[in-house]
Amino acid sequence: MIDSHCHLTYEPLLCQIDAILARAAAAGVRGCVTVGTSIDDIGRAIELAATRGGGDVRIWPTAGVHPHEAGKVEAAWDGRLESLARRADIVAVGETGLDYHYDFAERGVQRRVFQRELEIAVEANKPVIIHCREAHADTLDVLRGFPSPQRVVFHCFTGTPAEAGEILSRGHWISLTGVVTFKKSDALREVARMIPAGRLMVETDSPYLSPEPLRSARPNEPAHVMHTARCIAAVRGTTLEALDELTTANAARFFGLTL
Ligand SMILES: [Zn+2]
Repeated sequence: MIDSHCHLTYEPLLCQIDAILARAAAAGVRGCVTVGTSIDDIGRAIELAATRGGGDVRIWPTAGVHPHEAGKVEAAWDGRLESLARRADIVAVGETGLDYHYDFAERGVQRRVFQRELEIAVEANKPVIIHCREAHADTLDVLRGFPSPQRVVFHCFTGTPAEAGEILSRGHWISLTGVVTFKKSDALREVARMIPAGRLMVETDSPYLSPEPLRSARPNEPAHVMHTARCIAAVRGTTLEALDELTTANAARFFGLTL
């Protein structure tokens, strides 16, 4: 299994990375996509992948500026992001997008940074990881002006089945976290049934969002991705093994990973 979205550079994961990777390996996780969220964080992700990604658990870094960080970018940030995005070890641009729940950055600024990151993804020929929270219409609006046939995934999808339908009708992918395991998440389990087999991924988004039955576990970590996969397998009427095989192949195809 591959944890298609986590933040191994965040604490308290980084300070215990050897134990985190050992538990992931023991749980059957073969690789983690560690998602960069600021220029500094991308540097940490690249270094971590280079120094710790050669063992039982592969580590693949991505390069993005999170919408929470969009108001803090320095001059010429986009030139730096573009050169990072072009690196051979960077498997995607993102996470990027819009977050109208927290509104940590002004919405116009979030939108400009998001648009620029999409342009960089096209220039670097990399797939895109989208963070979208309470900003469904505007996110799709920005993507509509995005001229590339690039693969796009909505990570940690927590929207409605109608919103998922719209995303899927555009050809985008959806990745689900432990939120799908929560007792109240019936609508999200409906989404888990709707996603075409070829466009589904699973992730932890660790250190956040521990799945049931470990919901109170802090921090979340890649080893826990199995619980999310088991829940999705059950609602799709398949086995954990088959879902593991499917989502591993999907992640490899989405990010262009060699396993
Ligand atoms: Zn994330």
